[in-house]
Amino acid sequence: MPGDHAPRSKIDPRTAGALREFLRTAEDFGETELYYRARRDVPKGPPRAESLEELYARYSGCLNCVLGKSRKKIVFGMGSLRPKGLFIGEGPGYEEDRKGLPFVGKAGELLDRILAAIGLSRETVYIANIVKCHPMREPEHPDMRGNDRPPLPEEMEACRPILEAQIRILAPPVICALGATAARSLLRTGDGITRLRGKVYGYPIADTGRTVPLVPTFHPAALLRDPSLKKDAWKDMKLLRGLIPPERNPA
Ligand code: SF4
Repeated sequence: MPGDHAPRSKIDPRTAGALREFLRTAEDFGETELYYRARRDVPKGPPRAESLEELYARYSGCLNCVLGKSRKKIVFGMGSLRPKGLFIGEGPGYEEDRKGLPFVGKAGELLDRILAAIGLSRETVYIANIVKCHPMREPEHPDMRGNDRPPLPEEMEACRPILEAQIRILAPPVICALGATAARSLLRTGDGITRLRGKVYGYPIADTGRTVPLVPTFHPAALLRDPSLKKDAWKDMKLLRGLIPPERNPA
């Protein structure tokens, strides 16, 4: 437990939440003085962002993990502010890092075709990634091609507040996790995408008490590598389309 001289800025909201829980337990055991003193000392943290504009301004110079040091551009995401679905990949690659946009290149073109097949488009959904900066195998060579790697768990956790805020602000009717890394991170599981796909999960939206249906499927890059996966990906897309409520459903 922090003492009276603990700097307030060092306690993040999650730590404060865990601390409050601990103190409630302490109160159950009769430690009321400890409970009330500490409750007064727990900082509230910065007010939450109410728009994507506000959120992106807040994180435009983010260096909350090492990926911030080697990126060229932060890739927050793109699409509708009232999306029919939120599609989440794992992280930007070489081209995305330069353009500042998600899913460009061949995997992006395939994603566009998949969306079109179920009556959606980049303009009617929102596309984002688990981490907003390019994870590189050799960050000292940021201009080298083929330098991509999956984000590490600590990088995904560091970036999580941005994604959680995007989900809260956009309030999509359905989330699609594109690929194993995104699905595992969102569902907090170690299972592979083959096991996870084909089902609908409930994703709790932070600070709202609400859940949104989540459908995991293969990453478009995996479909390019192994076209035999497309059959199952198509089943997933039909499942997802059925979860879009009529008022947001494509004609
Ligand atoms: S990946 Fe996310 S947490 Fe890490 S520096 Fe980029 S924006 Fe910040």
